[in-house]
Amino acid sequence: MFPTFKQRLDSLAHRLSVLTPYIIADTAPLAPFELRLGDSTAWTPLAHNSYWGAWQTRFEMRGVYTIPKRFKSRDDLALLLPLGNSGDFEHPEALLRIDNEAVSGVDRNHQRITLATAHKKRGQKYGLHLSGWTGLGGSLGGDQRQRLYMGVPSIVVVDRAMEVFITLARTTLEAIRVLDDQRPEKYTLSEALDDTLRVLDMTPPMRGDGLRASVQSAWRLLQDRLAAAGVPHPLTLHGVGHAHIDTAWLWTLAVTRDKVERTFHTVLKLMDEYPEYVFAASQPQHYAWFRERHPESFAALVKRVKAKRWEPMGGMWIEPDANVTGAESLVRQFMLGRQYFKEQFGEDAETPVLWLPDTFGFPASLPQIAAQAGMKYFFTIKLRWNEVNSFPHDSFWWQGIDGTRLLAHMSTVPYGGTSSDWATYNADPRPSAAYYAWIAQKDKRQHDVLMAYGWGDGGGGPTREMLESMRALKQFPGIPAHQPTRVHDFYRLLADKHGETLPTWDGELYLETHQGTLTSQARIKRMNHSAEKQLHDIEFIASYARLHVPGYVYPHPALRTAWEVVCLHQFHDILPGSSIDAVYDDAERAFTTLFAQLDAVQKAAIDAISGHFGGALVINTIDSLRHVFSSQTDTPLTMVSPFSVERPGQQPLSVNREQRVVVEPFVLENNMLRAEFDFSGNLNRLFDKFIARDYVPVSGGCGLIAAYEDRPALFDAWNIDAALLRSPIACLEGDDAPQVILSNGIRGTIEFRRRILNSTVTIRVSLEANSDQLEYETVIDWREKEVLLRAEFPLLIHAREATYGIQWGQITRPTHQNTTWDAAQWEVAHHGWIDVSDAGGGVTVLDDGIYGGSVRQGRTDDGQITNTVALTLIKRASGAAPNGDAGVRTLRYALATVSAGGTSALAVQQFTCPVIMASSSDASTQRELPPSFVQHLLAPAGAIVETIKRAEDDSCFIVRLYEPHGGASSTLLRFGFDVASVHKADILENAIEPLTVDDDKRIVTLALRPFEIVTLRVVPA
Ligand SMILES: [Zn+2]
Repeated sequence: MFPTFKQRLDSLAHRLSVLTPYIIADTAPLAPFELRLGDSTAWTPLAHNSYWGAWQTRFEMRGVYTIPKRFKSRDDLALLLPLGNSGDFEHPEALLRIDNEAVSGVDRNHQRITLATAHKKRGQKYGLHLSGWTGLGGSLGGDQRQRLYMGVPSIVVVDRAMEVFITLARTTLEAIRVLDDQRPEKYTLSEALDDTLRVLDMTPPMRGDGLRASVQSAWRLLQDRLAAAGVPHPLTLHGVGHAHIDTAWLWTLAVTRDKVERTFHTVLKLMDEYPEYVFAASQPQHYAWFRERHPESFAALVKRVKAKRWEPMGGMWIEPDANVTGAESLVRQFMLGRQYFKEQFGEDAETPVLWLPDTFGFPASLPQIAAQAGMKYFFTIKLRWNEVNSFPHDSFWWQGIDGTRLLAHMSTVPYGGTSSDWATYNADPRPSAAYYAWIAQKDKRQHDVLMAYGWGDGGGGPTREMLESMRALKQFPGIPAHQPTRVHDFYRLLADKHGETLPTWDGELYLETHQGTLTSQARIKRMNHSAEKQLHDIEFIASYARLHVPGYVYPHPALRTAWEVVCLHQFHDILPGSSIDAVYDDAERAFTTLFAQLDAVQKAAIDAISGHFGGALVINTIDSLRHVFSSQTDTPLTMVSPFSVERPGQQPLSVNREQRVVVEPFVLENNMLRAEFDFSGNLNRLFDKFIARDYVPVSGGCGLIAAYEDRPALFDAWNIDAALLRSPIACLEGDDAPQVILSNGIRGTIEFRRRILNSTVTIRVSLEANSDQLEYETVIDWREKEVLLRAEFPLLIHAREATYGIQWGQITRPTHQNTTWDAAQWEVAHHGWIDVSDAGGGVTVLDDGIYGGSVRQGRTDDGQITNTVALTLIKRASGAAPNGDAGVRTLRYALATVSAGGTSALAVQQFTCPVIMASSSDASTQRELPPSFVQHLLAPAGAIVETIKRAEDDSCFIVRLYEPHGGASSTLLRFGFDVASVHKADILENAIEPLTVDDDKRIVTLALRPFEIVTLRVVPA
């Protein structure tokens, strides 16, 4: 009978599977190991072919080996360590030591460890030690009762020629399977493979001798036939070894640290065997961990960096979330990261690529921050995960709000062997992945794709099979060519070949999935936000003390450590809320310690200032003149200049009768606005007195708190199911009468106590004299699971777009849903404020550490356009962290009418950073206080000073400011001290150019481009 094509392929596959065991030419079992689990101190024997261990447990194994007499030391000898394998994440990982020397990681993908010459001396007895972790097991849906299966640890002789041949034959078979039926290569390749296998001596019973003798000629024949089988494919996959290690996720930071150590050792080991192998790793924090516990291995890593085979890259301290991470934090990520690589590897060792393959969306200000840190390139695959719209480019210029561009690449390589659109940073170099990478390529005129290949998260990076496969696919008929590369070389090639011809993507890179990560695990977001605010305050106060108080030492070490803690927890599964409960329990402990340390540092700086100047003081740490009311009395206290330390009453503040707040149970009113509430606490009316305009539609319900079902179909900590946001499952209930809890003319507060489902909600709404801002403090004792809570503000504003605060700027997004791109952005990231305005006025919603929200158009019964601003307050799907986000939560937000013309970025600083009060125990000596550290001489200022700190090199002060509105501007800065010099610098604090300081030694004029971030080095005279 004549076999069908499928039958022939099945036969080829079967013959190959018969051959595979012959890669091992000889084997000698080792004596059973001894095992120690968890905290146990007792060693117990671990029999061959037996079950052992429990999930998520640390273990040690020990044993010995000697080289059998029949093995020759020039043979390719290896240890085979089958500790167990139950699938991804559910497998033991260990670090192998031979005679106390760390040799390699051992995991499901790396069970065969080649013995170096020093470890295969005949007659010598070697000690073996394995220390590891049993793997994740149950947490990812596995069965907790399942045990690991220990095979037979052995010492083996490897037939390399057989291995190389089998790789090539397997690659050929997969290429045949994946190629389209119309492709002629499909058939020439199948003939070639069939003929080749016939050259092998597989005469039964196969003893191996004849077979091994025939392998070389079979390999040569296959090579020749491949060369003749078809033309090369136009696409090249530039492959770089990689291991995406989530710094915490379904395991804690401590486990990650071990994963890094194992992975780095595995990489170094395989580099000895594959001279073309290049590996790239981001996250300097991982290197710092590795260096601390393995200084010798780190020295070997440094050598590989110098030889350009190990590529440090990424730019940031870890791969952070970029939606919730604050403005200054984004800068510090680069400062910490770039500085560490420079210290360890030299000036230009790091490849200038912002490497964020797995981060859940990217703000439009990021290109400028990255470029100012010296980055030129950007890599992600994440927008290939979009749920609605397919991202249109592969290689492109990513242009930020200020016009800065990064050369960006979004790889098309999918998970191995699938046709999925989901690209990966854990690629497997094989014909199917390469073939689908080509199919997924949007612009097929471009012929270069970066492939980051290797197992992440403890899987040990590239495997021997992958490295062999890279060789086999160097040039292959019908399949894209595989070329080992450095990431840096890839981007240089991209720039040289395509450069200006590439398309530009302007603005944010919004990820059309995982919108729940803007809200999930609010406790970590709150801690991050508090730490960011406190560091902001301390850096100014300590700078002020360093400038004015003799003998005060700026707390560099404490601040550096603090930023490391904050930046570490901004990792893209920690801050977004997608980790397990244990990660957040650890984080809570870390932040508790951090806050105690920061409190002490802050107190020391304030004590130094108040000790020096004496008396009572008020400290303003932000860039705006602000008023301080005493909430206890009806006496207005004082105004305080930007970045100043002043005495209460130094700039007295008076409130006239008209400006005072009038409070009734359902009304708050002052000279600027009148707010009327219904019984539930919702606004019926928000009236801007300046322009005589009502903002609440007749239907009311502004400020409504509503609960929605939170049961996403996939990834429940990450996702929100948009369909479930169409109608709430519950709103506030209760019939307690509202209480006026403060009414002194200066500030008025009404309190509403309500229930939603099984949780209590207390809403306190306040208004101050002469203020355009209605403040909410909402205290929720949250007891629900699988429920999401939003505050909603329908507003009678005729707008097609809304403006959102982001780090170092703002962006507009449509409020209508004309296109699928508009509709897909139904929940978006913001920082501090959302503004919705029309030509006649508008409202800004301010908040203190809420990141998820939206503005959506609607219409009233009589056909007027409304826009509803929604803030997502709580999300609590069950998922990986069943305990997450329960308990008492205080949420602060405010409505501000915008007719007064304030800057939202400043308004939110005022809303979130309170003035700090201090007093000295010794009030007798009172020195005169110096003027503002720095303030603007023009109004409007044209820029906002965000950060004041001491330079990292301690030689001067750093003042960081930015243009917030998106227009060219200029500002006159006046320093409160004589200045010797001022230089413009990059965000790494390297001076770029000197600025002219005016005759009085205090004034600097500065022109800023739209949204420009400017860092100044200021040297006092
Ligand atoms: Zn990740």
